Amino acid sequence: MSPRSPLEAPPRKVAPLAFLRWIDSWAGIDEPAASTEKRVDWPRIVPFALLHVACLGVIWVGWSPVAVAVAVALYVVRMFAITAFYHRYFSHRTFKTSRALQFLFGVLGNSAVQRGPLWWAAHHREHHLHSDKEEDTHSPTRHGFFWSHVGWITAKHNFPTRRERVKDLLKYPELCFLDRFDIVVPIAMFAGLYGLGAWLGAAYPELGTSGLQLVVWGMLSTVVLFHATFTINSLAHVWGTRRFQTTDTSRNNWFLAIVTLGEGWHNNHHHYQGSVRQGFRWWEYDPSYYALRAMSWVGLVWQLNPVPAAVLEKRLEKRA
Ligand SMILES: [Zn+2]
Ligand SMILES: [Zn+2]
Repeated sequence: MSPRSPLEAPPRKVAPLAFLRWIDSWAGIDEPAASTEKRVDWPRIVPFALLHVACLGVIWVGWSPVAVAVAVALYVVRMFAITAFYHRYFSHRTFKTSRALQFLFGVLGNSAVQRGPLWWAAHHREHHLHSDKEEDTHSPTRHGFFWSHVGWITAKHNFPTRRERVKDLLKYPELCFLDRFDIVVPIAMFAGLYGLGAWLGAAYPELGTSGLQLVVWGMLSTVVLFHATFTINSLAHVWGTRRFQTTDTSRNNWFLAIVTLGEGWHNNHHHYQGSVRQGFRWWEYDPSYYALRAMSWVGLVWQLNPVPAAVLEKRLEKRA
């Protein structure tokens, strides 16, 4: 998308580019890839760090039942958008939906402040391609726990959307827009939260809320959602049980399945990525799958890829 050729980007432009990328994440996307050295891109992560610091604002804005309810609702809806759509739909194409719903969940996923759907899917596909090998961007066994959880996001070479991995998604200009200007939806969400809180505070003062209070609780929800999502990259490769002898270190973990609405069955998922379902047994809690099933009954999504019988039989043989 950038009209500049790589040769026209001297090193002195690096810092302004980092700031420009706060707004336009595709700025300089055609420039040569940065070194894969594990170095933090400090200017770029300022907003990410500030989001964490802003959570301390809860000391001043206090709490109210409305603020807590909004934070919990935002957590659940956006976790579903991440697990069911960013992961199972955009990254793995395990079911089909309409273009309108694809966009709607692209927007909802984007509001989780985990970058755009193309960036997310491209990095996730890379993870499956190189799981727990040296090239795996976020392998806790190769690069350490902290790096696998959050460090990798701060590295310069992981910043650009790897478009060659998501050619199937590039044909949708509305998704490219979301991905390129991935700050727009989060800003709109926080502005909306401020407006809602200010209106509730004025119209129903007995609720004890305000614009700033809802913004801070929205940030708290976002930070918790972020770290819960990324436990799948970090914890789910070190903590839990292994049903399938995959070539990586993925684990099944019931606790992580609860906090991520079903993503904790990560060993199942690494063994067979093509199914919409990640809990392979009835007792493997997978609410993202249940919600997608319900959505399929009313025609919102369709062609949900099942777990092949051979995959389940293999498990039965192993137990016998
Ligand atoms: Zn996956
Ligand atoms: Zn994994």
